[in-house]
Amino acid sequence: MSETRNFMNVQFASKSENESFARVAVGAFVAQLDPNMNELTDLKTVVSEAVTNCIIHGYDNHSHGVISITTEIENDMVTLIIEDFGIGIGDLEEARQPLYTSKPELERSGMGFTIMENFMDKVNVESKIGSGTKITMMKRIASNKALYN
Ligand code: ATP
Ligand code: MG
Repeated sequence: MSETRNFMNVQFASKSENESFARVAVGAFVAQLDPNMNELTDLKTVVSEAVTNCIIHGYDNHSHGVISITTEIENDMVTLIIEDFGIGIGDLEEARQPLYTSKPELERSGMGFTIMENFMDKVNVESKIGSGTKITMMKRIASNKALYN
């Protein structure tokens, strides 16, 4: 592994108490890239959206599931891989539509994927019914580069 690359991986139970842990863990790891406040908020927000989805959709609010987060850094690029091993998504195109939610009765707004797409440079979703969902998101942390170039 070259000097500019780094990664971390954490796994935790699908409990809503762990959402703040996930945000803080990713935030602490990416601190080495010296992100500005906006970049850090964007990253923490997409972690919240993806982890909430794993819990309430992937595991249907059960706390026995495992959620995995891998964060990779290469130069100024952050890659977040957030994965559950739950029910999976049948129609990815529909799921990614703004305002689409399969749980309107829970007062979800169907904006999670849209937020991820707006806050990150790239969002890829892989999912299989009965096997789970893996979201890979990338964002360039460019805030401080101008100072050095
Ligand atoms: P909001 O995020 O605004 O509270 P939401 O979670 O329903 O509402 P999205 O996050 O955009 O909206 O997700 C859209 C739909 O995709 C969900 O309603 C659900 O059907 C499906 N989905 C998202 N993540 C998962 C997942 N990890 N496992 C299974 N289904 C998922
Ligand atoms: Mg959501």
